[in-house]
Amino acid sequence: MRVTDHRYSRDLERHHLALRMIRHEARTCTIRLCTTLTDDRIRKLYRSYVSAGPAAQAVRRKRGKSPRRTAYFLRNASAHLEASLLAGLFAAVGLIEDEGARNPAQRGIEFGALFCDAFETYQSLWRSGHLSFEHAWFLLMALASGEDLQVDGCPECGGAFVRDTLSLSPGRCPLCRMKTDTRGVRRLLAERRNLADPRS
Ligand SMILES: [Zn+2]
Repeated sequence: MRVTDHRYSRDLERHHLALRMIRHEARTCTIRLCTTLTDDRIRKLYRSYVSAGPAAQAVRRKRGKSPRRTAYFLRNASAHLEASLLAGLFAAVGLIEDEGARNPAQRGIEFGALFCDAFETYQSLWRSGHLSFEHAWFLLMALASGEDLQVDGCPECGGAFVRDTLSLSPGRCPLCRMKTDTRGVRRLLAERRNLADPRS
């Protein structure tokens, strides 16, 4: 492959990834880190994407502060279960150990594409999931730093789950917690039922 062909191919990959992240309502700074496109180029891509049709117009640009509180992932058993599912996917594809998760300078196209793969898999597995792209991004960074959260094995069932590293007890996975919380199980089942039957 000639040098000019290679550059063209990389530019195309950058644009494809940026559009993929725009569809997930990623912030400009997150897109910039993975694609190295300028903010101006990302804004132009966003505008061209939104003008493409009604489905694209539903996408909103994120403004304000990025997610910062790890307690968001542990606030109840259902939220904890979602975060644990996503964390299991991150671990399965090696994202938590990836240098890009710790070092912003190492976040290239491949890292961004792999993250999108994991996030889209989470969305297909949990269609009523509440975690946004930016919350998922923050979860990965928190797991990679290991300061507040880490992926651990449940002492009761052995399943992987997100553990609060500041907690004095080893904790249990959200599924084991829900077994002893019938209200939590009922709430989860009701969510599933409503999703299966949109008339209800
Ligand atoms: Zn368990």
